[in-house]
Amino acid sequence: MSLIESCPLLIGGEWSTVSGVPVTPVHNPSIGEVIAETPLCGADVVDAAVSAASRAFPAWSETPPVERARVLFRLKVMLEDRFDELARSVTREHGKTAAEARGDVRRGLENIEYACGAPALLMGESLENVAAGIDCDSIRQPLGVCAGITPFNFPAMVPLWMWPMAIACGNTFVLKPSEKVPLTSILIARLAQEAGLPPGVLNVVHGGRDAVDAILRHPGIQAISFVGSTPVAKSIYETGIAHGKRVQAAGGAKNFVVIMPDADVANSATGLMESAFGCAGERCMASSTAIAVGRAADTVLPALVDVVSKVRVGPADRDPQVQMGAVISREHADRVCGLISQAAGEGATPLTDGRGLRVDAAPNGFFVGPTVLDHVRPEMVTMKEEVFGPVLNVVRMDNLDEAIRLANQSAYGNGAAIFTRDGKAAREFRHRVRAGMVGVNIGVPAPMSFFPFSGWNASFFGDLHLQGRESVAFFTQHKVTTTRWFSHGEGSIWADK
Ligand code: NAD
Repeated sequence: MSLIESCPLLIGGEWSTVSGVPVTPVHNPSIGEVIAETPLCGADVVDAAVSAASRAFPAWSETPPVERARVLFRLKVMLEDRFDELARSVTREHGKTAAEARGDVRRGLENIEYACGAPALLMGESLENVAAGIDCDSIRQPLGVCAGITPFNFPAMVPLWMWPMAIACGNTFVLKPSEKVPLTSILIARLAQEAGLPPGVLNVVHGGRDAVDAILRHPGIQAISFVGSTPVAKSIYETGIAHGKRVQAAGGAKNFVVIMPDADVANSATGLMESAFGCAGERCMASSTAIAVGRAADTVLPALVDVVSKVRVGPADRDPQVQMGAVISREHADRVCGLISQAAGEGATPLTDGRGLRVDAAPNGFFVGPTVLDHVRPEMVTMKEEVFGPVLNVVRMDNLDEAIRLANQSAYGNGAAIFTRDGKAAREFRHRVRAGMVGVNIGVPAPMSFFPFSGWNASFFGDLHLQGRESVAFFTQHKVTTTRWFSHGEGSIWADK
Protein backbone atom coordinates (compact mmCIF):
# COMPACT_ATOMS: atom_id res chain seq x y z
CA MET A 1 0.00 0.00 0.00
CA SER A 2 1.31 3.47 -0.91
CA LEU A 3 2.26 5.66 2.00
CA ILE A 4 1.69 8.70 -0.17
CA GLU A 5 -1.69 10.20 0.63
CA SER A 6 -3.98 11.55 -2.03
CA CYS A 7 -5.75 14.84 -1.40
CA PRO A 8 -9.50 14.55 -1.82
CA LEU A 9 -11.77 17.37 -2.93
CA LEU A 10 -14.82 18.37 -0.93
CA ILE A 11 -17.65 19.38 -3.24
CA GLY A 12 -21.29 19.55 -2.19
CA GLY A 13 -20.60 17.54 0.97
CA GLU A 14 -18.93 14.65 -0.93
CA TRP A 15 -15.26 13.77 -0.74
CA SER A 16 -13.72 12.49 -3.97
CA THR A 17 -10.33 11.97 -5.51
CA VAL A 18 -9.51 13.15 -9.00
CA SER A 19 -7.53 11.25 -11.56
CA GLY A 20 -6.06 12.21 -14.89
CA VAL A 21 -4.70 15.57 -13.73
CA PRO A 22 -1.08 16.44 -12.97
CA VAL A 23 -0.04 16.23 -9.33
CA THR A 24 2.55 18.04 -7.23
CA PRO A 25 4.30 16.48 -4.23
CA VAL A 26 3.65 17.50 -0.63
CA HIS A 27 6.80 17.02 1.48
CA ASN A 28 7.46 16.53 5.12
CA PRO A 29 10.20 19.20 5.10
CA SER A 30 11.75 17.88 8.33
CA ILE A 31 12.87 14.69 6.57
CA GLY A 32 12.53 15.64 2.92
CA GLU A 33 10.11 12.81 2.11
CA VAL A 34 7.02 12.98 -0.07
CA ILE A 35 3.93 12.38 2.08
CA ALA A 36 1.10 13.29 -0.29
CA GLU A 37 0.26 14.41 -3.79
CA THR A 38 -1.89 17.43 -4.55
CA PRO A 39 -3.94 17.22 -7.74
CA LEU A 40 -3.57 20.33 -9.86
CA CYS A 41 -7.21 20.75 -10.77
CA GLY A 42 -8.59 23.10 -13.35
CA ALA A 43 -11.70 24.99 -14.32
CA ASP A 44 -14.03 21.96 -14.34
CA VAL A 45 -13.42 21.20 -10.67
CA VAL A 46 -13.71 24.87 -9.68
CA ASP A 47 -16.96 25.07 -11.61
CA ALA A 48 -18.37 22.02 -9.81
CA ALA A 49 -17.42 23.52 -6.44
CA VAL A 50 -18.96 26.90 -7.28
CA SER A 51 -22.16 25.16 -8.44
CA ALA A 52 -22.37 23.26 -5.14
CA ALA A 53 -21.75 26.46 -3.17
CA SER A 54 -24.40 28.29 -5.21
CA ARG A 55 -26.95 25.54 -4.53
CA ALA A 56 -26.20 25.69 -0.81
CA PHE A 57 -26.42 29.49 -0.60
CA PRO A 58 -30.22 30.06 -0.47
CA ALA A 59 -30.81 27.79 2.53
CA TRP A 60 -27.61 28.74 4.35
CA SER A 61 -28.12 32.48 3.92
CA GLU A 62 -31.66 32.09 5.32
CA THR A 63 -30.39 30.08 8.31
CA PRO A 64 -30.58 32.37 11.36
CA PRO A 65 -27.14 33.78 12.21
CA VAL A 66 -27.31 32.27 15.68
CA GLU A 67 -27.75 28.78 14.18
CA ARG A 68 -24.86 29.35 11.78
CA ALA A 69 -22.74 30.41 14.73
CA ARG A 70 -23.71 27.26 16.65
CA VAL A 71 -22.15 25.08 13.94
CA LEU A 72 -18.93 27.05 14.28
CA PHE A 73 -19.10 26.76 18.03
CA ARG A 74 -19.37 22.96 17.73
CA LEU A 75 -16.41 23.02 15.33
CA LYS A 76 -14.41 25.08 17.81
CA VAL A 77 -15.02 22.48 20.54
CA MET A 78 -14.04 19.65 18.19
CA LEU A 79 -10.86 21.45 17.16
CA GLU A 80 -9.94 21.96 20.82
CA ASP A 81 -10.45 18.22 21.37
CA ARG A 82 -8.22 17.41 18.39
CA PHE A 83 -5.75 20.26 19.00
CA ASP A 84 -2.64 18.08 19.21
CA GLU A 85 -3.53 16.12 16.10
CA LEU A 86 -4.02 19.36 14.17
CA ALA A 87 -0.72 20.77 15.39
CA ARG A 88 1.03 17.54 14.35
CA SER A 89 -0.52 17.83 10.90
CA VAL A 90 0.85 21.38 10.59
CA THR A 91 4.34 20.27 11.67
CA ARG A 92 4.25 17.30 9.33
CA GLU A 93 3.40 19.18 6.16
CA HIS A 94 5.11 22.47 7.01
CA GLY A 95 8.14 21.65 9.17
CA LYS A 96 7.55 24.21 11.92
CA THR A 97 8.13 23.28 15.57
CA ALA A 98 5.43 21.83 17.80
CA ALA A 99 5.11 25.14 19.68
CA GLU A 100 4.83 27.10 16.43
CA ALA A 101 2.31 24.65 15.03
CA ARG A 102 0.23 24.99 18.18
CA GLY A 103 0.39 28.76 17.74
CA ASP A 104 -0.80 28.38 14.15
CA VAL A 105 -3.79 26.28 15.24
CA ARG A 106 -4.53 28.56 18.23
CA ARG A 107 -4.59 31.69 16.09
CA GLY A 108 -6.89 29.93 13.65
CA LEU A 109 -9.20 28.84 16.44
CA GLU A 110 -9.38 32.40 17.71
CA ASN A 111 -10.80 33.37 14.33
CA ILE A 112 -13.51 30.75 14.73
CA GLU A 113 -14.24 32.10 18.21
CA TYR A 114 -14.56 35.59 16.79
CA ALA A 115 -16.84 34.34 14.00
CA CYS A 116 -19.07 32.70 16.65
CA GLY A 117 -19.96 36.27 17.62
CA ALA A 118 -21.33 36.98 14.14
CA PRO A 119 -24.93 37.54 15.31
CA ALA A 120 -23.75 40.60 17.25
CA LEU A 121 -21.22 41.65 14.62
CA LEU A 122 -23.87 41.54 11.89
CA MET A 123 -26.25 43.87 13.69
CA GLY A 124 -27.13 46.96 11.72
CA GLU A 125 -27.83 50.55 12.65
CA SER A 126 -31.00 52.56 12.74
CA LEU A 127 -32.06 56.14 13.27
CA GLU A 128 -35.59 57.23 14.02
CA ASN A 129 -36.95 60.44 12.45
CA VAL A 130 -34.29 61.07 9.81
CA ALA A 131 -37.09 63.40 8.62
CA ALA A 132 -40.50 63.91 10.15
CA GLY A 133 -42.12 60.49 10.52
CA ILE A 134 -39.38 58.76 8.52
CA ASP A 135 -37.02 56.11 9.94
CA CYS A 136 -33.87 54.71 8.42
CA ASP A 137 -31.99 51.49 9.08
CA SER A 138 -29.13 49.57 7.61
CA ILE A 139 -28.69 45.79 7.66
CA ARG A 140 -25.88 43.56 6.45
CA GLN A 141 -26.59 40.78 3.98
CA PRO A 142 -24.25 38.09 2.63
CA LEU A 143 -22.68 38.35 -0.83
CA GLY A 144 -23.16 34.79 -2.16
CA VAL A 145 -20.29 32.45 -3.05
CA CYS A 146 -16.89 33.57 -1.77
CA ALA A 147 -13.50 31.98 -2.42
CA GLY A 148 -10.20 31.80 -0.53
CA ILE A 149 -6.69 31.16 -1.86
CA THR A 150 -4.03 30.60 0.81
CA PRO A 151 -0.23 30.41 1.18
CA PHE A 152 1.90 27.62 2.62
CA ASN A 153 3.24 29.28 5.74
CA PHE A 154 0.25 29.02 8.12
CA PRO A 155 -1.65 25.88 7.06
CA ALA A 156 -4.25 26.23 9.84
CA MET A 157 -4.52 29.94 10.59
CA VAL A 158 -4.74 31.61 7.20
CA PRO A 159 -7.62 29.51 5.80
CA LEU A 160 -9.37 30.10 9.14
CA TRP A 161 -8.93 33.87 8.67
CA MET A 162 -11.29 33.47 5.75
CA TRP A 163 -14.00 30.88 5.60
CA PRO A 164 -15.38 30.84 9.19
CA MET A 165 -16.29 34.53 9.06
CA ALA A 166 -17.48 34.25 5.46
CA ILE A 167 -19.94 31.47 6.30
CA ALA A 168 -20.91 33.00 9.66
CA CYS A 169 -22.07 35.99 7.60
CA GLY A 170 -24.26 33.68 5.49
CA ASN A 171 -22.04 33.15 2.45
CA THR A 172 -20.94 29.81 1.06
CA PHE A 173 -17.28 29.18 0.31
CA VAL A 174 -14.74 27.56 -2.01
CA LEU A 175 -11.30 27.15 -0.42
CA LYS A 176 -8.16 26.46 -2.41
CA PRO A 177 -5.40 25.81 0.10
CA SER A 178 -1.74 25.99 -0.83
CA GLU A 179 -0.81 22.97 -2.92
CA LYS A 180 2.27 22.66 -0.65
CA VAL A 181 0.22 22.18 2.56
CA PRO A 182 -3.29 20.89 1.74
CA LEU A 183 -3.59 18.28 4.50
CA THR A 184 -4.50 20.43 7.52
CA SER A 185 -7.29 22.13 5.56
CA ILE A 186 -8.68 18.72 4.60
CA LEU A 187 -8.64 17.63 8.25
CA ILE A 188 -10.43 20.79 9.41
CA ALA A 189 -13.03 20.54 6.62
CA ARG A 190 -13.79 16.94 7.70
CA LEU A 191 -14.38 18.18 11.24
CA ALA A 192 -16.57 21.02 9.96
CA GLN A 193 -18.76 18.41 8.28
CA GLU A 194 -18.93 16.42 11.52
CA ALA A 195 -19.87 19.63 13.33
CA GLY A 196 -22.96 19.80 11.14
CA LEU A 197 -22.01 22.17 8.35
CA PRO A 198 -24.55 21.49 5.57
CA PRO A 199 -23.28 20.14 2.23
CA GLY A 200 -21.93 22.79 -0.13
CA VAL A 201 -21.41 25.51 2.48
CA LEU A 202 -17.66 24.83 2.54
CA ASN A 203 -16.02 23.28 -0.51
CA VAL A 204 -12.33 22.46 -0.86
CA VAL A 205 -10.56 22.29 -4.22
CA HIS A 206 -6.88 21.73 -4.93
CA GLY A 207 -4.48 23.12 -7.45
CA GLY A 208 -2.16 25.89 -8.41
CA ARG A 209 -2.31 28.59 -11.02
CA ASP A 210 -5.00 26.99 -13.23
CA ALA A 211 -7.41 26.59 -10.31
CA VAL A 212 -6.72 30.18 -9.22
CA ASP A 213 -7.31 31.50 -12.74
CA ALA A 214 -10.63 29.65 -12.85
CA ILE A 215 -11.64 31.17 -9.49
CA LEU A 216 -10.72 34.67 -10.66
CA ARG A 217 -12.83 34.38 -13.78
CA HIS A 218 -15.81 32.40 -12.49
CA PRO A 219 -18.99 34.50 -12.75
CA GLY A 220 -20.57 32.66 -9.82
CA ILE A 221 -17.99 33.94 -7.30
CA GLN A 222 -18.70 37.29 -5.64
CA ALA A 223 -15.63 37.84 -3.49
CA ILE A 224 -12.06 36.54 -3.20
CA SER A 225 -9.75 36.50 -0.18
CA PHE A 226 -6.11 35.95 -1.02
CA VAL A 227 -2.97 35.69 1.07
CA GLY A 228 0.42 35.03 -0.55
CA SER A 229 3.36 36.76 -2.18
CA THR A 230 3.09 40.32 -3.46
CA PRO A 231 3.37 39.70 -7.22
CA VAL A 232 0.58 37.11 -7.03
CA ALA A 233 -1.51 39.26 -4.65
CA LYS A 234 -1.29 42.23 -7.00
CA SER A 235 -2.24 40.19 -10.03
CA ILE A 236 -5.12 38.49 -8.17
CA TYR A 237 -6.43 41.86 -7.04
CA GLU A 238 -6.25 43.36 -10.53
CA THR A 239 -7.74 40.34 -12.31
CA GLY A 240 -10.39 39.79 -9.65
CA ILE A 241 -11.70 43.35 -9.72
CA ALA A 242 -11.56 43.36 -13.52
CA HIS A 243 -13.99 40.42 -13.32
CA GLY A 244 -16.32 42.35 -11.04
CA LYS A 245 -15.37 40.72 -7.75
CA ARG A 246 -14.69 42.16 -4.34
CA VAL A 247 -11.05 41.29 -3.53
CA GLN A 248 -8.84 41.47 -0.45
CA ALA A 249 -5.27 40.38 -1.25
CA ALA A 250 -2.57 40.30 1.42
CA GLY A 251 0.97 40.14 0.03
CA GLY A 252 4.57 39.75 1.14
CA ALA A 253 6.58 41.83 3.54
CA LYS A 254 9.93 43.16 4.70
CA ASN A 255 9.58 44.19 8.30
CA PHE A 256 11.94 46.52 10.14
CA VAL A 257 12.79 46.41 13.83
CA VAL A 258 14.50 49.47 15.29
CA ILE A 259 16.72 48.86 18.32
CA MET A 260 17.30 52.10 20.19
CA PRO A 261 20.47 52.62 22.26
CA ASP A 262 18.48 52.54 25.51
CA ALA A 263 16.66 49.25 24.72
CA ASP A 264 16.81 46.43 27.24
CA VAL A 265 19.59 44.24 25.85
CA ALA A 266 18.32 40.78 26.80
CA ASN A 267 14.69 41.47 25.81
CA SER A 268 15.72 43.03 22.50
CA ALA A 269 18.00 40.12 21.64
CA THR A 270 15.33 37.54 22.47
CA GLY A 271 12.61 39.57 20.73
CA LEU A 272 14.75 39.87 17.59
CA MET A 273 15.62 36.20 17.60
CA GLU A 274 12.02 35.08 17.94
CA SER A 275 10.85 37.54 15.34
CA ALA A 276 13.51 36.82 12.74
CA PHE A 277 13.89 33.08 13.20
CA GLY A 278 10.50 31.89 14.52
CA CYS A 279 8.85 29.64 11.91
CA ALA A 280 12.28 29.62 10.23
CA GLY A 281 11.61 33.17 9.06
CA GLU A 282 8.65 32.03 6.95
CA ARG A 283 6.30 34.54 8.47
CA CYS A 284 4.87 37.68 6.87
CA MET A 285 5.40 39.39 10.24
CA ALA A 286 9.00 38.21 10.67
CA SER A 287 11.52 40.98 11.21
CA SER A 288 13.92 40.69 8.34
CA THR A 289 15.92 43.85 9.08
CA ALA A 290 17.15 45.15 12.43
CA ILE A 291 18.15 48.79 12.43
CA ALA A 292 20.63 49.23 15.27
CA VAL A 293 20.70 52.87 16.33
CA GLY A 294 23.93 54.26 17.78
CA ARG A 295 25.59 52.00 20.33
CA ALA A 296 22.73 49.44 20.16
CA ALA A 297 24.85 47.48 17.69
CA ASP A 298 27.60 47.09 20.30
CA THR A 299 25.29 45.98 23.09
CA VAL A 300 22.48 44.01 21.44
CA LEU A 301 24.38 42.27 18.62
CA PRO A 302 26.69 40.22 20.88
CA ALA A 303 23.68 39.15 22.95
CA LEU A 304 21.77 38.28 19.78
CA VAL A 305 24.64 36.23 18.36
CA ASP A 306 24.90 34.44 21.68
CA VAL A 307 21.22 33.34 21.70
CA VAL A 308 21.12 32.60 17.97
CA SER A 309 24.22 30.37 18.14
CA LYS A 310 22.42 28.18 20.66
CA VAL A 311 19.27 27.66 18.57
CA ARG A 312 18.65 23.96 18.02
CA VAL A 313 17.70 23.38 14.37
CA GLY A 314 16.26 20.04 13.32
CA PRO A 315 13.34 17.80 12.43
CA ALA A 316 10.44 19.24 14.40
CA ASP A 317 8.25 16.16 13.92
CA ARG A 318 10.64 13.83 15.76
CA ASP A 319 12.65 15.99 18.15
CA PRO A 320 10.60 17.97 20.70
CA GLN A 321 13.70 19.98 21.70
CA VAL A 322 13.97 21.54 18.24
CA GLN A 323 13.67 25.36 18.35
CA MET A 324 13.76 25.98 14.61
CA GLY A 325 12.47 23.63 11.95
CA ALA A 326 12.99 23.19 8.23
CA VAL A 327 11.96 25.55 5.44
CA ILE A 328 9.27 24.45 3.02
CA SER A 329 11.33 22.89 0.20
CA ARG A 330 14.81 22.03 -1.02
CA GLU A 331 14.49 24.72 -3.74
CA HIS A 332 13.56 27.31 -1.13
CA ALA A 333 16.50 26.32 1.11
CA ASP A 334 18.83 26.68 -1.90
CA ARG A 335 17.33 30.06 -2.77
CA VAL A 336 17.79 31.37 0.78
CA CYS A 337 21.41 30.16 0.89
CA GLY A 338 22.00 31.76 -2.52
CA LEU A 339 20.71 35.11 -1.23
CA ILE A 340 23.00 34.87 1.83
CA SER A 341 25.97 34.24 -0.49
CA GLN A 342 24.98 37.16 -2.69
CA ALA A 343 24.72 39.50 0.33
CA ALA A 344 28.09 38.30 1.62
CA GLY A 345 29.53 38.94 -1.85
CA GLU A 346 28.11 42.47 -1.69
CA GLY A 347 29.95 43.13 1.57
CA ALA A 348 27.62 41.95 4.35
CA THR A 349 29.33 40.20 7.29
CA PRO A 350 27.68 36.92 8.42
CA LEU A 351 27.83 36.91 12.25
CA THR A 352 26.13 33.53 12.16
CA ASP A 353 25.90 31.56 8.92
CA GLY A 354 23.16 29.02 8.20
CA ARG A 355 24.52 27.85 4.86
CA GLY A 356 25.63 24.25 4.64
CA LEU A 357 24.01 23.26 7.92
CA ARG A 358 24.07 19.48 8.43
CA VAL A 359 21.44 17.94 10.66
CA ASP A 360 22.55 14.37 11.36
CA ALA A 361 19.14 13.31 12.67
CA ALA A 362 17.56 14.22 9.33
CA PRO A 363 20.16 14.54 6.57
CA ASN A 364 17.52 15.01 3.85
CA GLY A 365 15.53 17.73 5.67
CA PHE A 366 15.33 21.20 4.16
CA PHE A 367 17.39 23.09 6.72
CA VAL A 368 19.01 26.52 6.74
CA GLY A 369 20.53 27.73 10.01
CA PRO A 370 19.68 31.12 11.53
CA THR A 371 21.80 33.75 9.80
CA VAL A 372 22.62 37.24 11.07
CA LEU A 373 24.13 39.53 8.44
CA ASP A 374 25.85 42.63 9.79
CA HIS A 375 26.84 45.79 7.90
CA VAL A 376 24.03 45.36 5.40
CA ARG A 377 23.38 48.39 3.19
CA PRO A 378 20.02 49.43 1.68
CA GLU A 379 21.04 48.58 -1.89
CA MET A 380 21.96 44.95 -1.11
CA VAL A 381 19.85 42.07 -2.40
CA THR A 382 18.63 40.85 1.00
CA MET A 383 17.24 44.32 1.70
CA LYS A 384 15.26 44.39 -1.52
CA GLU A 385 13.88 40.85 -1.87
CA GLU A 386 11.57 39.09 0.55
CA VAL A 387 13.90 36.26 1.62
CA PHE A 388 11.21 34.44 3.62
CA GLY A 389 13.79 32.39 5.48
CA PRO A 390 15.93 32.56 8.63
CA VAL A 391 18.00 35.59 7.63
CA LEU A 392 18.24 38.84 9.60
CA ASN A 393 19.87 41.92 8.08
CA VAL A 394 21.48 44.35 10.47
CA VAL A 395 21.82 47.95 9.33
CA ARG A 396 23.60 50.48 11.53
CA MET A 397 22.19 54.02 11.77
CA ASP A 398 22.96 57.09 13.85
CA ASN A 399 19.50 58.14 15.00
CA LEU A 400 15.76 57.37 14.99
CA ASP A 401 15.09 59.78 12.16
CA GLU A 402 17.41 57.88 9.81
CA ALA A 403 15.92 54.57 10.96
CA ILE A 404 12.36 55.67 10.20
CA ARG A 405 13.44 57.07 6.84
CA LEU A 406 15.01 53.74 5.89
CA ALA A 407 11.98 51.72 7.02
CA ASN A 408 9.69 54.03 5.08
CA GLN A 409 11.65 53.50 1.85
CA SER A 410 10.37 49.92 1.75
CA ALA A 411 7.83 49.03 -0.90
CA TYR A 412 6.08 46.88 1.71
CA GLY A 413 4.28 47.90 4.90
CA ASN A 414 3.16 44.95 6.97
CA GLY A 415 4.88 45.15 10.35
CA ALA A 416 7.41 47.41 12.06
CA ALA A 417 8.69 47.36 15.63
CA ILE A 418 10.80 49.38 17.99
CA PHE A 419 12.64 48.27 21.11
CA THR A 420 13.21 51.16 23.50
CA ARG A 421 12.65 52.42 27.06
CA ASP A 422 11.83 55.89 25.74
CA GLY A 423 8.10 56.57 25.39
CA LYS A 424 8.71 59.63 23.22
CA ALA A 425 10.80 57.61 20.73
CA ALA A 426 8.14 54.87 20.65
CA ARG A 427 5.40 57.43 20.03
CA GLU A 428 7.40 59.11 17.27
CA PHE A 429 8.02 55.74 15.62
CA ARG A 430 4.39 54.62 15.83
CA HIS A 431 3.22 57.91 14.40
CA ARG A 432 5.63 58.14 11.47
CA VAL A 433 6.38 54.60 10.35
CA ARG A 434 4.57 53.58 7.17
CA ALA A 435 3.43 50.09 8.17
CA GLY A 436 0.02 48.83 9.23
CA MET A 437 1.00 46.75 12.30
CA VAL A 438 3.38 48.24 14.82
CA GLY A 439 5.11 46.64 17.81
CA VAL A 440 6.54 48.48 20.80
CA ASN A 441 8.95 46.07 22.52
CA ILE A 442 7.08 43.28 20.66
CA GLY A 443 8.92 41.64 17.75
CA VAL A 444 5.92 40.06 16.02
CA PRO A 445 3.02 42.49 16.39
CA ALA A 446 0.48 40.21 14.67
CA PRO A 447 -3.00 41.41 15.69
CA MET A 448 -5.47 39.00 17.25
CA SER A 449 -8.63 37.93 15.46
CA PHE A 450 -10.75 40.90 16.58
CA PHE A 451 -8.34 43.43 15.04
CA PRO A 452 -7.70 43.74 11.31
CA PHE A 453 -4.51 42.23 9.87
CA SER A 454 -3.77 45.61 8.43
CA GLY A 455 -0.90 45.55 5.93
CA TRP A 456 -0.10 48.70 3.97
CA ASN A 457 1.56 49.52 0.64
CA ALA A 458 2.60 46.44 -1.40
CA SER A 459 1.70 44.20 1.56
CA PHE A 460 -2.01 44.60 0.85
CA PHE A 461 -4.27 45.24 -2.12
CA GLY A 462 -7.89 46.11 -1.48
CA ASP A 463 -9.87 48.15 1.02
CA LEU A 464 -11.03 45.78 3.75
CA HIS A 465 -8.48 43.61 5.53
CA LEU A 466 -8.75 40.09 6.88
CA GLN A 467 -9.81 39.63 10.52
CA GLY A 468 -11.82 41.88 12.81
CA ARG A 469 -14.77 44.03 11.85
CA GLU A 470 -13.23 44.69 8.44
CA SER A 471 -13.74 41.03 7.58
CA VAL A 472 -17.44 41.31 8.52
CA ALA A 473 -17.67 44.31 6.19
CA PHE A 474 -15.79 42.43 3.47
CA PHE A 475 -18.13 39.44 3.55
CA THR A 476 -21.38 41.43 3.64
CA GLN A 477 -23.13 44.21 1.81
CA HIS A 478 -25.23 46.94 3.37
CA LYS A 479 -28.87 47.43 2.64
CA VAL A 480 -30.26 50.74 3.85
CA THR A 481 -34.03 51.07 4.16
CA THR A 482 -35.88 54.34 4.59
CA THR A 483 -39.44 53.91 5.89
CA ARG A 484 -42.54 56.03 6.28
CA TRP A 485 -45.93 54.73 7.40
CA PHE A 486 -49.23 56.44 6.85
CA SER A 487 -52.24 56.28 9.07
CA HIS A 488 -55.21 54.69 7.44
CA GLY A 489 -56.81 57.22 5.12
CA GLU A 490 -53.87 59.66 5.26
CA GLY A 491 -52.75 61.04 1.89
CA SER A 492 -50.10 59.35 -0.25
CA ILE A 493 -46.45 60.28 -0.23
CA TRP A 494 -47.10 62.47 -3.28
CA ALA A 495 -49.55 64.60 -1.31
CA ASP A 496 -46.62 66.27 0.51
CA LYS A 497 -45.07 67.65 -2.65
P1 NAD B 1 2.45 32.25 -3.23
O1 NAD B 1 2.09 33.61 -3.68
O2 NAD B 1 3.48 31.51 -4.01
O3 NAD B 1 1.15 31.29 -3.22
C1 NAD B 1 -0.03 31.67 -2.56
C2 NAD B 1 -1.21 31.03 -3.27
O4 NAD B 1 -1.29 31.52 -4.60
C3 NAD B 1 -1.13 29.51 -3.34
O5 NAD B 1 -2.41 28.98 -3.07
C4 NAD B 1 -0.71 29.25 -4.78
O6 NAD B 1 -1.27 28.07 -5.31
C5 NAD B 1 -1.24 30.45 -5.54
N1 NAD B 1 -0.33 30.88 -6.63
C6 NAD B 1 1.02 30.82 -6.64
N2 NAD B 1 1.49 31.36 -7.80
C7 NAD B 1 0.42 31.75 -8.51
C8 NAD B 1 0.27 32.37 -9.79
N3 NAD B 1 1.30 32.70 -10.54
N4 NAD B 1 -0.99 32.64 -10.20
C9 NAD B 1 -2.06 32.32 -9.44
N5 NAD B 1 -1.96 31.73 -8.23
C10 NAD B 1 -0.74 31.45 -7.78
O7 NAD B 1 2.85 32.36 -1.69
P2 NAD B 1 3.48 31.24 -0.76
O8 NAD B 1 4.90 31.02 -1.17
O9 NAD B 1 2.58 30.07 -0.67
O10 NAD B 1 3.42 31.98 0.66
C11 NAD B 1 4.41 32.86 1.11
C12 NAD B 1 4.04 34.31 0.83
O11 NAD B 1 2.82 34.64 1.48
C13 NAD B 1 5.07 35.29 1.38
O12 NAD B 1 5.28 36.29 0.43
C14 NAD B 1 4.42 35.83 2.63
O13 NAD B 1 4.87 37.12 3.03
C15 NAD B 1 2.99 35.87 2.20
N6 NAD B 1 2.08 35.92 3.35
C16 NAD B 1 1.46 37.10 3.60
C17 NAD B 1 0.61 37.23 4.69
C18 NAD B 1 -0.06 38.55 4.99
O14 NAD B 1 -0.96 38.59 5.82
N7 NAD B 1 0.33 39.62 4.35
C19 NAD B 1 0.37 36.11 5.51
C20 NAD B 1 1.00 34.91 5.21
C21 NAD B 1 1.85 34.83 4.10
